[in-house]
This record gives sequence, C-alpha cells and structure tokens, in this order.
Amino acid sequence: MLSTSKTTDRPLSRPATAAQLRHASRNLPRYTSYPTALAFQPGEGAAAPVDWFAATRAEDTISAYVHVPFCRRLCWYCGCNTTVAHEYDRIDTFQQVLEREIDLLARALGPHAGVAHLHFGGGSPNALSPEHFLNLADRLYDRLGLRADAEIAVELDPALLSDAFVDALGEAGVTRASLGVQTFDPIVQEKVNRIQPYDRVAASAERLRAQGVRGLNFDLMYGLPAQNPENVAESVELALTLKPDRIAVFGYAHVPWMKKHQVMIQDADLADVAGRWAQAEAADQALVAGGYVRIGLDHYARPEDPLAIAAAEGRLRRNFQGYTDDPAPVLVPVGPSSIGQFREGFVQNAVATDTWGRAVLKGELPLARKLPLSAEDRLRAAIIERLMCDLAVDVGAVCQAHGVNPGALDASVAALAEAESDGLCRIDGRRIEIPEGGRRLMRVVAAAFDERLPVAQNRHAKAV
Ligand code: SF4
Repeated sequence: MLSTSKTTDRPLSRPATAAQLRHASRNLPRYTSYPTALAFQPGEGAAAPVDWFAATRAEDTISAYVHVPFCRRLCWYCGCNTTVAHEYDRIDTFQQVLEREIDLLARALGPHAGVAHLHFGGGSPNALSPEHFLNLADRLYDRLGLRADAEIAVELDPALLSDAFVDALGEAGVTRASLGVQTFDPIVQEKVNRIQPYDRVAASAERLRAQGVRGLNFDLMYGLPAQNPENVAESVELALTLKPDRIAVFGYAHVPWMKKHQVMIQDADLADVAGRWAQAEAADQALVAGGYVRIGLDHYARPEDPLAIAAAEGRLRRNFQGYTDDPAPVLVPVGPSSIGQFREGFVQNAVATDTWGRAVLKGELPLARKLPLSAEDRLRAAIIERLMCDLAVDVGAVCQAHGVNPGALDASVAALAEAESDGLCRIDGRRIEIPEGGRRLMRVVAAAFDERLPVAQNRHAKAV
C-alpha cells in the first residue's frame, strides 16, 4: 500500500467543546427524507397507493432507484438491506423478477418526460453478472425511457469488482460510480471483514475512467473499530491521490440490536463520542486541505463538480441517496426495500426479497408501506431540507410560500434557544443560519422542526 508523506504537516484538528459533545450524543435521523421512513405505515395490496404512480405529469422527468439486495460477503459494519448469496442461482432468479417489476412499473406510471437520474444501489450491484447487469440496464432504459442526458450512477464494492463488470458499465453508458472505500487501514479492514488494498481500489478507479465513467465518488467512514484521527486522515490522503470527484464521509452507526452481524464488532474497539468527533474532524481537515469543498452534512466535492456548483447556487437537494442536484419530483422504487417519492407521498417496496418477488409474480406492484404527506409534513420537510442543504432557512418565508402564517412554526424556532447559545445556529427573527462550527450538528437544528421525533428517537444512531 502507498503511504502518504503528509503525516507531519497535517492541519491540526479542533477538539469538540463540551456543548458540542452533548449534542453529538443525541440519537437523531439523517433526514434523507422528512418524515423519515420510520413513520411509513402498512399499505400493501388494496391499500397500496398505485394511483400515485399514474399521477405523474407529461413534463415530469423522473428518477429511479434500483436496489440489488445481494453481496458476496458481509461487512460487519453494514447497515444496508442485503444478504450474502452463496449460490448465483438466487441472483439469477432475482434479476428475472426485477425485469418483471420494471414492466409493471412501466405500465403503472402515467405520462412523464423520461428518466433523468437512475441509481443502482444495494447491497452490491456488482453482485450481478456483467451480462445480467446489461440486461437489466437495457430493460430500464427501454421500458422507463432514458433521457439522452441522464445520470446513471452505480454503487460498487471494489473488492469484488471484475474487469468484465467495469466493461459492462462502460457499455451501459454509466456516468458515475461510487466506490465503497471506507478505510485503507489494513487493521481496520480486517476488523470489519472488508479487505481491499489501495492497489485494488486504484486499479478499479483507473479502469472505470478508461471505460468512460466520468464521475467517481468514494465513500469513506469514521467510527469503525480501531479507527483514530491519524488513520482516518491517512485514508483520506490516500483517497485523494486517486482524485475522486466527490467523497462522502459517514459515521459508523453501531446498532447491533437492529443489525445482528454488528455483534462481530467489539465495543472496546469503538471510539467514544469525543473520539468519533476527532475522527470526523481529521477527515474534514484533510479534505479541505486537499481542495475539496464541504457540501451539506457529510459530502465533499471538487469545486468544479456539479454537486459543488449546485450547492453554491442553492440547488442542492436531499433524498434517500444523500445529496443530489437532481430536481426530479418523482423517484420510482425498483427492487426490494426501495423507497419511492411522489407528489402525494412516500412508498416503500416489501423489504424481504421473497415477499417482494411473490407480489411481482402476481402482477402487483410490491408495495408494503406508504406515507401520504400532509400540508404540515411538506412545510416541515421544506425547512429541514433547506437547513440540511443550505445551512440556512428563512422559516417565515417558507411558511408564506406554503400558504400559512409566517409565525406558524415559531415554537420550533424558539426551541432552538439552547442550540443557539451553544453556537450551533444563529437566529435573526425567523431566519436561521448554521455557522461552520455547527455544520457537523446540523441534524440537531433540523430536529427542532421534526414533530415526529419523540416517538422515533431510539431507532436512530448518534448525531456524530
Ligand atoms: S458491500 Fe456494502 S452492502 Fe454489502 S455487506 Fe458490505 S457494506 Fe453491506
């Protein structure tokens, strides 16, 4: 593995204050949606909101998220909906059912202007064979109508990425790849059951670019077992040698009571909140020193990247895939557990692959949960999204734009008094700004507008 030469001139990280650590210990949602998925209610069979699919408009571009719920081995930190497929037959059957689901979706959707953003996630989309990936992409492009300028993004596990799969990505016209890097430290890799040396990731990045995949994202993590500020910063510096366009830095959420395999991670190997803060800070300092701009809560991009430009122009959006510049009003769910978004509300497909498959084979959309949005949900969602994207919002103006009294959410603004005195935000009338020092805790500020939080709080991970 390469080693970096920057260990002596790294920027010093700022230690957290006592107040920051107190807020960082709260269990809070990531607000990739509001309301969060925990608020969704059963809505299968006759209760499924299939009419929402038919209500798309001719001028709507649409997005689609395709979930591939398979991996070839389990990383101990994993929080995703996935299983290890020991036999490829299971994946073969899955992709056949997925093609049937795409046909159902094509019939269910109303008129629209084509797919502007297609995202394959998982699990590991590269658990599919190259041939099956190409079949799936063709089916999606043909049945849902891919726009010529569409962004086609694929999440990839570099440890298992074959040359043939990269070639298939090129053939399918994929425009962006997200590599799950997480850490380059071999001890940490061993402790999380994910061995992928630097050379492997470097070779994947080079081949992806050679195949015409223009955008390259890396996911990195902090808070994993045996991580510390030094090895987190070193992983960032190694990542930067490969010049990714975007980097996301996620904190490991240790929730073994929800994700049983996380018991493989020893509590004694995990940093406390102050240690996690120091790791996040080390990553942040290394990325900014490397010329990347901060985006929202946990994303970074080169200044010329479209996401950085969208953030600078106030066009950043937050959805189930994180931060995006995609303005499409409709997100179509494909595959088990996928979440969809429509003007009327959210839907989620059946989580279990068997349940999902049975519904599709009966000729039904495999919907299991839904949440119709109330006017108040939309108002609160708009405020939370602007805080999470712009780090600022004029609450009164958003209220007026939603046709309610500008003081309708004054109680939520007033609830931020303690956060303001702790330096997490500044309040001027009904305008809220999150200063740079409050960025890592923006979820605390956003939570003031979450009226559903008290019932759901114990299901979320720490704010940092
Ligand atoms: S590759 Fe990703 S989805 Fe699969 S087990 Fe590892 S973290 Fe989970």
